[in-house]
Amino acid sequence: MSPAFQRLVIGCDGKVTKCCGDSNRMITLGDANETTIADIWKSEKLHKIRLLHQGGRYEEVPTCSLCVINRHNKGDEWNWLFKEH
Ligand code: SF4
Repeated sequence: MSPAFQRLVIGCDGKVTKCCGDSNRMITLGDANETTIADIWKSEKLHKIRLLHQGGRYEEVPTCSLCVINRHNKGDEWNWLFKEH
C-alpha cells in the first residue's frame, strides 16, 4: 500500500509532507502549527494524490515520479527489495 495512505511526515518547523520520499518538500500539505493533523490527513490535496496512486498514476505526482519506492508496482529492477525472503 502506498505511503500516501499510511502516514504523514512532520518537519521540525511543522511543515507536513506525505512521506519521506519528499525530503525536498516539493509538495507541502500544510503546517501543523496552523492546521490539525486530522485536517491535513483529510485534505483535498492529499486526496488527489491518493486517487492518482490508487489509479497507478504515480508519474503524475512530481515527487512520486522520481521516487524509487513506486517502482515495486512496475515490476522493474527494484522488485527484489520487496520480495519475501
Ligand atoms: S511513491 Fe514515493 S514519494 Fe510517492 S508517496 Fe510513495 S514513497 Fe512517497
